[in-house]
Amino acid sequence: MNTYKYLRLLILVLVLNLFSLSSLAQANVATPATIPQDLAGKVILLNPGHGGQDTGAIRNGIMEKDITLAISLQLRDLLEAHGAKVSMTRTTDVYLRLPEIANITNRVRPDLFVAVHVNACGARAVDRIETYYWTQEGQEAARTIFTALTRQLGKDGLPASKHQLYVLDHTDIPATLVEVGFLSNPKTRASLVTSSYQRRIADAIAVGITDYFTDRIVATR
Ligand SMILES: [Zn+2]
Repeated sequence: MNTYKYLRLLILVLVLNLFSLSSLAQANVATPATIPQDLAGKVILLNPGHGGQDTGAIRNGIMEKDITLAISLQLRDLLEAHGAKVSMTRTTDVYLRLPEIANITNRVRPDLFVAVHVNACGARAVDRIETYYWTQEGQEAARTIFTALTRQLGKDGLPASKHQLYVLDHTDIPATLVEVGFLSNPKTRASLVTSSYQRRIADAIAVGITDYFTDRIVATR
């Protein structure tokens, strides 16, 4: 083979390689990783705590109402990616009275109601996960979400506790209220304002919600 022919062959091989590499890349784009639709058919109502004139806890100008909304919006996207139909009591910075939240819950009639809150207290060192319920059905959800949050965030907490809170006892829907950490703890506060930590919390709550529905399927078999 003379040099000219050899070069032509080399170029042809290179071009063919490039072509097959680019079609491979396109094939990868065309088939994204499939997210399991394990929440298909489930209706979930998210209640980002506080809003509008009701700021919730405030520390160093950081307001609970903004953190609860940011986490809940990320949680909504995650749950929808898993096939759930998600409703929210608010998606913006608005104030809802507690009876309005109960009315929305009883009108939407979701399979599960989850209120998202951030805790605060006088002692800066305190930081833990807390989840609350009022009914037996709510207890299961409070338990699975508590387990997922403490495990995935590597934190301690107050295991699912029975507490007569307005949004939990004014409905017969399985309902839980989740306190994802303490705004009064400086280290946790620094994490809570970042979207990556908000995403970790949303991830953990989504795992807890999925476990709740999985456990129920097993229990009714
Ligand atoms: Zn709160």
